[in-house]
Parts: sequence; structure tokens; C-alpha cells
Amino acid sequence: MDNRSLEQYAEDIYTCNRTRCGFCVDECPVHRIKGMEAYSSRGKMMLARGLLEGIIEPSTEVQEVLEACLLCGHCQARCALNNLDIFTALRQRMAEKEFYAQEHLKKVMKMLDAGRLFDRPAHLEREGTVPLYLGCLYQSKPIETRTIISVLERCGIDPLVVEEVCCGYLAEATGFHAQFEDIRERFRATYGNHSDQEILTLCPTCTVALTESHGLNAKHAILAVAERIGQLNPRQLDLQATYHDPCHLGRMLGVFDEPRDVLRALGVVLTEMEQNRVFSSCCGGGGGVADIDQTLALEIAKNRIRDAMRVGVENIITLCPTCEPTLLRGASRLANETGVFVDVQGVWDLLDEALN
Ligand code: SF4
Ligand code: SF4
Repeated sequence: MDNRSLEQYAEDIYTCNRTRCGFCVDECPVHRIKGMEAYSSRGKMMLARGLLEGIIEPSTEVQEVLEACLLCGHCQARCALNNLDIFTALRQRMAEKEFYAQEHLKKVMKMLDAGRLFDRPAHLEREGTVPLYLGCLYQSKPIETRTIISVLERCGIDPLVVEEVCCGYLAEATGFHAQFEDIRERFRATYGNHSDQEILTLCPTCTVALTESHGLNAKHAILAVAERIGQLNPRQLDLQATYHDPCHLGRMLGVFDEPRDVLRALGVVLTEMEQNRVFSSCCGGGGGVADIDQTLALEIAKNRIRDAMRVGVENIITLCPTCEPTLLRGASRLANETGVFVDVQGVWDLLDEALN
């Protein structure tokens, strides 16, 4: 991805400032909690104009507003502008002026030094025929990841897992452009020989990074499972649930039907939440927000659990290593407050149960 400058998005920024339609405001998950326009897309478009024209100077107040954005893309689904690119350019502008969170810098340095975001407790490399990119989060959860690999094997897929390096999404999303370029070079050196192959992925965020930032032919593994599930005769699970679309898998990659098709093939009866598919609401785990404001992330997660409660289900199923623990924290906290627990489950665990 090229260096982003606010100037290149001036037309979009002025279009918003002139129209101020506000379609993006009410459903922004951060605005739902904060109740202040500055946190919505429209508010950030005004900040962008202020920074462009030099009316506003970078400050800790501006930094706080920009770091509270989940980069979830809900506003962009309501708008016709390059909202997410503009927010990333804003973060980049702020980072260039030394306004960034230390927590984000620490993670970026870890990516640069160690090649991954988290410590890796186990070796997960294996011989196989289909390249599978695990991503940092799954590398840090060897038990869950071995289960997924076993599910893929039961689906007739033979995953090839090599020593991985981080895709660098967080560095790019938090405005560390120069560092992201270094991470991208290392990534290319490691995966260059897979550039003409299809790579299966597990993490929606990594999938977006592999396709959009690294130009690879990446496809979320649930698509491969959906192609095969009809021949597998899975055990039918007695479960009523709703499905939470992860922002990156749904809105950004357009994968809406396949996870639902797989769940229905397992006998799961699905009820849709009001905000679903392209207008799904973020779990609270996006954009690096949880690193700097866990309370905000938790309140957003609780709101998503409330969305599920409103349609009368006690189970919410998702397919993302960030959404699942974030929603579970929200569900647990809400259970303490209301006495009602909405269970959060992952598609891979249900597949493991049904294909056993
Ligand atoms: S929907 Fe788009 S144009 Fe309308 S206020 Fe929001 S960001 Fe501006
Ligand atoms: S990306 Fe998400 S959190 Fe950020 S302004 Fe848009 S809707 Fe709100």
C-alpha cells in the first residue's frame, strides 16, 4: 500500500463537509457509546479538513478521537467515500507528528524484531499440499489451531504450514507507515515463492492484509469447507443461534453466505440480528482500540451481545480470533450485570464437534 496523504483524499473530505448527511453517525459503534459526533465518520471528516487547512494542529485530543476508531467500515457501508483510507491517512499524519499510542508502538516493534505479534508457544509447521497462513493470533493458540487443522484434514484438505511472519496489519492500521514497509519487505521475502498459489487463511484480518497489502491470492478457509460440507454428512447439532459477521470477513471480503451455509449444514437454526451482513456491528476488537481503551472495547462488545439478546437467542457464533474472545468478554460482563448469559462459540469448534 502506498503512503497515504490526506491531500489525496481532499475531494472526499470536502464532499462530506459540504453534504454532512449524517448517514454514518447513529450506527457507528463508538458513537453509540460515546454519544459525541467527533467519534463518528462525519466528525473525523471535519477533523481531517481542519488538519488539511491547518486550522487544527495535531494534539492528544485529536489522537484520542482517532485511536478510538475501530476501522470497522460500518460508516463506509453507509457512505460513498473512502472513509477507512482517510482515517488511516489521519493516523499516519498523527504518527508522523509523534502522536501515537505507546502500546501500538510496542506491538509494531515486536513485529519488526520478532516477526510476530505474540510469543509462540509451539511449533505448528507441517508438511502438506495446500498453503495455510495461520496468522499471529492462531499461532499463539496452538490447541485451537491444531483443532482447526484437524477439521480441515477431515474436510479432505492437507494444509502446508511454514514458519510465518506477521502480515503487519496493525502497523498499517495504526499509522506506522515506514515500519509497515519494512514488515512488508520481510513478508515478501518469506512468501514470495507462494505468490502464484492460492493460500488458505484463518484470520479475517490477515486475509484482508494478504490480499490488499501483499497482493497474494488468499482465501478464507471457511470457503474451502463450504465447498465440501455437503459431502461430509456432519452430525446435526441441536442449536439455536445468531451469527456475528466479523467486519473483515463480511464487509471487507464479502464472505456472508458460506459461514451461514456451513452452520445450517451442521443443523444450527439461525436467527439474524437487526444489524447483519454488510451492516453488521463491530465486536469492539477492531482498529487497535482494545490496546488503548479496554473499557470502550468492552462496552461495544456488550452492545453487540445486546443485539443478540434482542432477537431472543442465547448463542452467538462467529468466525474470527478477535471477535470470539472480545464478544465473550462482553457476554461475561453483561451476565454479571443482568444475570443473562449469551454463549459465544466459534464455527471451528462446532465443525470439530459435528465432524467427530
Ligand atoms: S455518510 Fe459520508 S458524507 Fe455523510 S456525513 Fe457520514 S462520512 Fe460524511
Ligand atoms: S470505522 Fe467504525 S468505528 Fe470508525 S467511524 Fe466508521 S463506523 Fe465508527
